[in-house]
Amino acid sequence: MRGTILIAGAGAAGCMAALTLLENGCPADKIILIDGNEKIAKKIYATGNGRCNLANARMEEDCYYSGSGDPMRFVNGFRPSVFFEEHGIPVHERSGYFYPRTDQAATVARFFEKKILRSGLLFLPETFLEKVQKTGSGFTCTLRGADGKKSAVSAEGLILATGGLVSRAFHCTGNGLSIAEKLGHKIVPVHPALTSLTVSDPLIKAAAGVRTTGSITADGRTEEGELQFTKTGISGIPVFQVSRLVSGKLLEGEKEVSVTLDLVPDIGRNDLEKIRVRRREELSSLTAGEILFGLIPEGLSSYLVRRVGLADEKKMKNVGNPDAVLDHLFSLLKDLPFMVTGTGSYETSQVTAGGVALSEVDPDTMESKVCPGLYPVGELLDADGICGGYNLTFAFATGYRAGLSLAKL
Ligand SMILES: Cc1cc2nc3c(=O)[nH]c(=O)nc-3n(C[C@H](O)[C@H](O)[C@H](O)COP(=O)(O)OP(=O)(O)OC[C@H]3O[C@@H](n4cnc5c(N)ncnc54)[C@H](O)[C@@H]3O)c2cc1C
Repeated sequence: MRGTILIAGAGAAGCMAALTLLENGCPADKIILIDGNEKIAKKIYATGNGRCNLANARMEEDCYYSGSGDPMRFVNGFRPSVFFEEHGIPVHERSGYFYPRTDQAATVARFFEKKILRSGLLFLPETFLEKVQKTGSGFTCTLRGADGKKSAVSAEGLILATGGLVSRAFHCTGNGLSIAEKLGHKIVPVHPALTSLTVSDPLIKAAAGVRTTGSITADGRTEEGELQFTKTGISGIPVFQVSRLVSGKLLEGEKEVSVTLDLVPDIGRNDLEKIRVRRREELSSLTAGEILFGLIPEGLSSYLVRRVGLADEKKMKNVGNPDAVLDHLFSLLKDLPFMVTGTGSYETSQVTAGGVALSEVDPDTMESKVCPGLYPVGELLDADGICGGYNLTFAFATGYRAGLSLAKL
């Protein structure tokens, strides 16, 4: 490509595209990289709780969602762990999850920062792509700088790596989606994914702050791990993993979606029954709050007691049908149903579901099938992965392919 290549967005996808262009013969003075943040790869610092879970050993179809194509077609053959090892960044694996050896996301962010800035390409921080006009041989792009001043840049190739709507803290406002739409792309409706769930039961606030190992089942999928209770609902990795199934149904118009928790997945039903029988023998000497003592954290026990209509201090000898209360509480340990009425906001979620339709992008080159010269990559596309490094893998893989195919032109 003889003209300028503009890369809008210096997140995981945009950085990977820039580096791949540079490493495959594209002169640095042909590339302009812009980003809403003051520095390159800012969001990467926040990933994986500051550790950057950059890939996963298990790569199968059920690791991604899309309403418009097969995300695996876009990631197959690209392994971030191999890429980073080959670039001198050692990577290590824990239970199939890959991280930089340092366990510091800064290692990955600074790797890109160093490589890209030292190449001499023009990086414009705090600069936004506002508008794009298709011209005969490329694009006229309107940029807005930190000082509010606008300027126009002509580009022969445009890599649109502006991410989704997660989140405003990283200047991800979704305006790349509007730009893609104006250039002729179909946008699959967006919603937050990898997010917490809001439940209809106001009593849940009694359990706020509790963290416990448990499992959640939604739409036939069960995920186990650390459940976190909030003032309005449930969160934690297992909840994130099923949130996409729930938010999809809410988006389709369902008012409430049912999920079930198992608060004692490590205790089999037979063993739990033995514990119940023993508690029953001493029931008349217990308060309601003591029935589940030692089985689950206290805040959670208090919530369950309120849910069956009692207070922790209530003496069981003064309750009308104490056996029924005991049975009810024990049954909730294994099957605690909730009606979910909403999800977390983009500000508290990890990824945007929906976006530019995959069917309109060539998975080998990342070039748009409806607007030649345009390369939509990363979270902007209609693909979202479960927790475990899948979203960064998608961003890196699509950025890599766009960079490689543009470098060859
Ligand atoms: C807290 C958190 C933790 C996460 N942890 C993990 C993890 O461990 N593993 C994993 O796989 N995924 C994780 N994710 C998801 C993952 O970070 C994203 O899916 C991935 O970074 C998307 O990369 P991207 O380059 O497509 O978009 P982004 O990283 O969102 O980058 C887009 C960039 O474009 C810029 N931009 C936006 N609009 C414009 C514009 N108009 N003009 C110029 N620039 C613009 C933004 O400022 C931003 O820097 C996490 C997400 C969050 C929020």
